[in-house]
Amino acid sequence: MAGVVVKPRARIYHGHDWVYSSDIKKIFGDPSPGDIVSLKDFKDRPLGSGIYNPKSQIVVRRFSRQKQQLDVEFFKRRIQRAVDHRETLGLDMQAIRLVWSESDGLPGVIVDRYGDHLVLQTLTLAMDQRKTTIAEALQSVIKPKSITERNDSPIRGAEGLESVKGLLFGSTPEAFDLQIGGLIYQVDMLEGQKTGLYLDQLANHAAVAELSKDLRVLDVFSHQGGFALACKQAGAAEVTGIEISASAVAAAQINATRNDLKVNFVKANAFDHLRELESQKASFDLIILDPPSFTKNKGSLSGALRGYKEIHLRALKLLQPGGRLATFSCSHHINHETFTQMISGAAVDAKRTLRRLANYSQRADHPVIATLPETEYLRGFAYETMGGW
Ligand code: SAH
Repeated sequence: MAGVVVKPRARIYHGHDWVYSSDIKKIFGDPSPGDIVSLKDFKDRPLGSGIYNPKSQIVVRRFSRQKQQLDVEFFKRRIQRAVDHRETLGLDMQAIRLVWSESDGLPGVIVDRYGDHLVLQTLTLAMDQRKTTIAEALQSVIKPKSITERNDSPIRGAEGLESVKGLLFGSTPEAFDLQIGGLIYQVDMLEGQKTGLYLDQLANHAAVAELSKDLRVLDVFSHQGGFALACKQAGAAEVTGIEISASAVAAAQINATRNDLKVNFVKANAFDHLRELESQKASFDLIILDPPSFTKNKGSLSGALRGYKEIHLRALKLLQPGGRLATFSCSHHINHETFTQMISGAAVDAKRTLRRLANYSQRADHPVIATLPETEYLRGFAYETMGGW
């Protein structure tokens, strides 16, 4: 079998599963892109099996510490383990990420479940080449009515993969209604952003909603209205959502109607709209900030932080004394320290004292691997601004 010898001091010796091109001492046996390679340390000791893609910055991703083929039996075992793990978490199994890449030992494979239907993403070359085998394993373990492929994520570009979406198995329903928690959502597996909903935020919708009773709420970056709808349902006085995507606003409005909740969704650029609200001297009691990741790499971090700080500053100015801020970051490059420093910077500029009410993270169907810091990406906090302090 072809293989890769890894230089000393590479991350793999610290428990990581990725091998960058600069970590490689030697490639032997002439592997083809997408092949399985055996990994060896610089003293020729085995480190396990990985998937190989010389086009990617991450040339090898280890998926097993043993010698291992990627056959249907392997995929069935890994998928079953992922499902078993989810079943122990006490989450709603109808709207859930069943398989999440490295965190489930399947680098690049993401499977979301919406009722009887599955959405599959294969974001690495090796897994993409094996997507029919993966779909076969999913049919055997989960017995879904359909499997939709949502391989239109821009991350695939890094692996030299094209953007595709379509049906892999069964017949995909048009957008359909699904009861998730206390709310009915419209799920559009083929056309919705991501694979439909932001599953990683579902638990946080409910947690933030608990802070919203009788309050005037502004949900910034509202997508299909997850926070806005949960707050209104939990007894918020008035709720406004701001979202730039017309299709997300349309879905949010449909969701509001289905649930018989009155929420005002505004299609606008959040940066402009927050400025406009400020000039109108608007005020709110709870503001939720859940922006997209403004940075995909370390290089764009400082620009991203300026963007984060600007929306925080504007939000703080719109908050009544005693008002609450719930804020999230979904980029693993923004670690705890960077995020909290940016928030304190905005508090200093706005001359506000913020007292922390809660810590939030990604839902447990996106598990964190201790030695893979990239698997921990979603952070959030709730604060209250101290009135008359
Ligand atoms: N809060 C949502 C998820 C938000 S994801 C939930 O919990 O389900 C981030 C959203 O921000 C996306 O829907 C994206 O379309 C939107 N967005 C991106 N840039 C924006 C901008 N400049 N102004 C307003 N919305 C924006």
